[in-house]
This record gives sequence, structure tokens and C-alpha cells, in this order.
Amino acid sequence: MKHEKPRCIRCGRHGALIRKYGLYYCRHCFREIAEEVGFKKY
Ligand SMILES: [Zn+2]
Repeated sequence: MKHEKPRCIRCGRHGALIRKYGLYYCRHCFREIAEEVGFKKY
């Protein structure tokens, strides 16, 4: 397997990623998609 660094699937940035629902999102994108999908804000 290739050694790939996890990165945001939305913006492609590396950083503090949140892996949820099998997807990788950075904190910034996670907040946005959370609103789109209708997740509750923390
Ligand atoms: Zn992102």
C-alpha cells in the first residue's frame, strides 16, 4: 500500500482532520458539510 497522508476530501488540505462517516474532512469543511447535511452543531 502507498503511504498516503489523509487529507480533506473537500479542499484537499492536510491538517486536523475529522474522520466521520468514512470520510475525511478538515475542521473547516466539516462545519460546512455539517450544516449542509443538517448535523447538530457542537
Ligand atoms: Zn477541507
